Amino acid sequence: MKELEERIRREGTVKPGNVLKVDAFLNHQCDVTLFDHMGAAWAEHFAGKTITKILTIEASGIGIACVAARHFDGVPVVFAKKAQSINLDGDQYTTTVYSFTKQKEFPVIVAKKYLNAGDHVLLIDDFLANGKALRGLIDLCESAGAVVEGIGIAVEKGFQGGGDRLREEGYDVDSLAIVESMDAETGDIEFRR
Ligand code: 5GP
Repeated sequence: MKELEERIRREGTVKPGNVLKVDAFLNHQCDVTLFDHMGAAWAEHFAGKTITKILTIEASGIGIACVAARHFDGVPVVFAKKAQSINLDGDQYTTTVYSFTKQKEFPVIVAKKYLNAGDHVLLIDDFLANGKALRGLIDLCESAGAVVEGIGIAVEKGFQGGGDRLREEGYDVDSLAIVESMDAETGDIEFRR
């Protein structure tokens, strides 16, 4: 998606440790018009599929998924929580995910009543790097007996391989910008063509 690539080029910064910072428009300050265009792009890509639910993970995925849902007949958005809370009552599906940015493991939890067998799920997240966060969401869907129909990602760091591994397994991964390489010293960013 050209618009997203241009924003990354203009406002993204490359940090040491393979971290791309896009706080100006994606995951701190949010450009809702851009989110809307991203939602339209995923709706076009997944047009042939029946989607009954969008599943994401807190925190950065939530805003993107909620705006995107407007392009999917307003299907509900469920976000997996990253910590136990007294607000989480009843039965839950739980798995563990290793965080690329925080470099530690954390639980990923969704209440059973919000993810069901028979759900056709579109997974949405801001970034795809090694694929750990998505593995967690896929695990939750498997536990629930829900079908993963597709995966919509804003920024995939292709050089970390998580996206291609998921594609090899047959998942329909639609990443709107795929960074093939980036350099923290020069700030150069190359996109996959
Ligand atoms: P993965 O689990 O695929 O290795 O990493 C994806 C998760 O880590 C995303 O949910 C995202 O929050 C975070 N993440 C991974 N790489 C980056 C990055 O370069 N920049 C930012 N802002 N977040 C990232």
